[in-house]
Amino acid sequence: MLPGDSTGYASDETEGMGVRGHADAVILPATAAQVADAMAWCYARDVAIVPRGGGSGFAGGAVPVEGGVVLSLERMTAVRAFDPLLWRIHVEAGVRTATVQRLARESGLVFPPDPGAAEQSQIGGNVATNAGGPHAFKYGVTGAWVTGLEAVVPPGEVLTVGGPIRKDVAGYDLTHLLVGSEGTLGVITAAWLRLMPAPQAVLPVAACYPGPAEGCAAIECVLGTGLVPAALEFLDAGALAAAQGAYPRRVPRATGFMVIAEADGSRGEAEHLAGELAAALSEAAQAVHTFDSRAEAAALWRWRDGVSIAVSAQRGGKVSEDIVVPLGRLREAIEETVSIGRRHELEACSWGHAGDGNLHSTFIVDPRDELELERARRAAQDLFGLAVRLSGSVSGEHGIGWAKRGQLSRQWSEPALRLHEEVKRAFDPKGLLNPGKKAARPA
Ligand SMILES: Cc1cc2nc3c(=O)[nH]c(=O)nc-3n(C[C@H](O)[C@H](O)[C@H](O)COP(=O)(O)OP(=O)(O)OC[C@H]3O[C@@H](n4cnc5c(N)ncnc54)[C@H](O)[C@@H]3O)c2cc1C
Repeated sequence: MLPGDSTGYASDETEGMGVRGHADAVILPATAAQVADAMAWCYARDVAIVPRGGGSGFAGGAVPVEGGVVLSLERMTAVRAFDPLLWRIHVEAGVRTATVQRLARESGLVFPPDPGAAEQSQIGGNVATNAGGPHAFKYGVTGAWVTGLEAVVPPGEVLTVGGPIRKDVAGYDLTHLLVGSEGTLGVITAAWLRLMPAPQAVLPVAACYPGPAEGCAAIECVLGTGLVPAALEFLDAGALAAAQGAYPRRVPRATGFMVIAEADGSRGEAEHLAGELAAALSEAAQAVHTFDSRAEAAALWRWRDGVSIAVSAQRGGKVSEDIVVPLGRLREAIEETVSIGRRHELEACSWGHAGDGNLHSTFIVDPRDELELERARRAAQDLFGLAVRLSGSVSGEHGIGWAKRGQLSRQWSEPALRLHEEVKRAFDPKGLLNPGKKAARPA
């Protein structure tokens, strides 16, 4: 146990947006039984529990905003079983995402979910937020790779759902109810994960366009042609302006939009698909770049991973949301992001997972300027309204957490909201697990 004011447990990646809390104590259990004991103690005394993984969240989910005990999984780092020949691994919740990815890679396998903070985030946090990255387009988000969970649920009981099995339709899908529950239904203590053989070759193709009209038409052409890239990403003009200095090729002068598609598979399959992707992307393109070796592909993805930091570096901060829209509305969402920014006197840009219709819609700010931050918060509200108007969702990646509490009521009907609240009550009748987080309605 650590004191509540121990450094590093009062905030996550939303600190720049002003989200900070204060814990009454921090506990670091090493086993599921200790998690259960801690929860039982808290539950009996009406003390709130805030589960914490790597603290890389973008929704304030791990922040003890309303006080209580922070329960950090950082000491639960055992790999309980690794069966590379059966493509599966059983890990405790505190194992870092990058560790699972490395273990898989060393055995010729891959754990496809690739959220951006892999060195910091934990598997428990990835499961709790159902995290995804660029390769979610072909391979799905974290939940698609979870076959079972061990979790501690109120008032302090260890339960196991699913396991090292690839199919299971025996009961209600409690495993995937816990996936994405952001620490509000239970504390995940271990996960059984599927792996798959690593593709032999990975060949990205990038194409430059004058603007979103041509770029989004190219994205739709890829899908319409029946091609299945592993990832299908975009950057708009503002994101490109921030990041293009480090891009590994030359970007033509009038470029206002970039699409990145990746082919994978056996060497032959990937080469064939990369050729087809290049053809599909080329119609209105000013340039099409191929990346033919593993090193070149890695350099491109390293650059893509750095886009968020490059955008922040422009003025020191950003308010960035992760809305999702149906694919046919992507262009509208990209253009509207800029218009919303203009209405609030903010520079705005977006980039993200085009194939999934998932945008990182971003307002660039000086984090020391409280008035500007306030304008950005209001702009974010307009963004959520836009997502709902376009039949999308207010979050495709980071979850609701604290930062977006209540926003679900914009997009869900009354019966759905009621069920959401009843599920919460069924797991946590006293409302002590991560209070205020993932709340369906404004308080
Ligand atoms: C640079 C950067 C890039 C990122 N890129 C991506 C991306 O590409 N895709 C993406 O989806 N996200 C991304 N994120 C956000 C973040 O990394 C993910 O949401 C991640 O899954 C959070 O994991 P964590 O272990 O850090 O969890 P935390 O931030 O500690 O917690 C997140 C939520 O999960 C809950 N939680 C954590 N562990 C448990 C547990 N064991 N049991 C129950 N609840 C738990 C917490 O209560 C909280 O609600 C990025 C963040 C950064 C800083």
